[in-house]
Amino acid sequence: MGVGFVLRHETGALNEELEPPSLQTHTSNLIHKTFSTPTEPRPQMRVLRGGKPRFTNSLLSVAFRKRFFPEATRSDWDDWRWQLRHRIRDVHTLQAMLQLSEEEQAAIGRHNGTLPLSITPYYASLLDRSNPSQPLRRSVVPVSAEQTRTEGEEEDPLGEDHTSPVPGLVHRYPDRVLFLATDFCSTYCRYCTRSRMVGDAQTQHCNVSHWERAIAYIEATPAIRDVLISGGDPLTLSDERLEWLLSRLRRISHVEMLRIGTKVPAVLPQRITPALTRMLKRYHPLWMSLHFTHPDELTPETAQACTRLADAGIPLGSQTVLLAGINDQVDTMKRLVHGLVKMRVRPYYLYQCDPIIGSAHFRTPVTKGLEIIQGLRGHTTGYAVPNYVIDAPGGGGKIPLLPEYVIGREGSDLLLRNYEGKTYRYPDYCK
Ligand code: SF4
Repeated sequence: MGVGFVLRHETGALNEELEPPSLQTHTSNLIHKTFSTPTEPRPQMRVLRGGKPRFTNSLLSVAFRKRFFPEATRSDWDDWRWQLRHRIRDVHTLQAMLQLSEEEQAAIGRHNGTLPLSITPYYASLLDRSNPSQPLRRSVVPVSAEQTRTEGEEEDPLGEDHTSPVPGLVHRYPDRVLFLATDFCSTYCRYCTRSRMVGDAQTQHCNVSHWERAIAYIEATPAIRDVLISGGDPLTLSDERLEWLLSRLRRISHVEMLRIGTKVPAVLPQRITPALTRMLKRYHPLWMSLHFTHPDELTPETAQACTRLADAGIPLGSQTVLLAGINDQVDTMKRLVHGLVKMRVRPYYLYQCDPIIGSAHFRTPVTKGLEIIQGLRGHTTGYAVPNYVIDAPGGGGKIPLLPEYVIGREGSDLLLRNYEGKTYRYPDYCK
């Protein structure tokens, strides 16, 4: 811990200790055999002899482990480091698990550069073996379309590199910064906004000297009251490294709150260990933004991970990217937001997909997002309705989008449309 810790790792990549090193029934059926709705009943913590809490396993993941990792024990499977060491990263291993389409095979074979193939065994257990159109499979298995550049697409569509005062830190808004703590993720989403940098084995975009410079910048900038630690996925860092970073940031008197952005509860829920949550509790106020894509991610394992985080007093919000053919239906989004609320995760942002290179097959028209918000607002709990935003290309920040609820004026009356399409008047004048 502390400075000594940094010196020991000065020359290494932040994730080097991970040494990122191989079903047939559809996901939902097996998940729901044991767990009819994602969080009902709330997962019970089983305790092994010897007092170590045991992680929940769905029938789906148990069947997958026995078939594809017969040598792995239940403890291996529940160990997040084992999951990282056994990530699926090549076409041959994936082919043994899924019937790959020609398009998928060609895309993986031709891949060269950032955003490699990487899927944790746990997340692979949720993929449909025979259907390349299954939403979860589309979100993590490459296809040829991601190698086609369409008009308007950019490597860095949000202009993050232009608002970066020091490497690994983005300072776009007055009072907060984005701290890119690592360029590593356990599982790579094919639509990743930071596809230009994540998973790049050649270039270290985030190393310890970057951390030091970023911390020095924050220390010297009293306007910064909020630090969002993201990446890559910061929860792939060891407890010790993450605690070192949190403690350094917490020592800066003007930093009022810390946030962590992560997809770990969806792709590597085993990472949310009691030791991690005990450590995180020491750095309140600490908030978390959890990245979810589809209701099929809301498994018993994910429910347990969210329960542990929420029980540690961490306010949880979700972020979801709107993706064509994956989650762009009102019913799908409703199932996702309802499942999240039951896991004590507040649906926070629904993002219009950023125009990164090769994203045309993922992007929907903006009208689709508005239609989804219109299908949620008023029709379900307000807490379950996320803010639909476009992160403005070029670095303009998040711009909220709302269906049209103000339809005009008559004299001093404001004419409003409610969720059922009925018109109401509000006397919009004061004495
Ligand atoms: S988890 Fe986040 S940073 Fe990692 S690949 Fe997915 S979207 Fe990108």
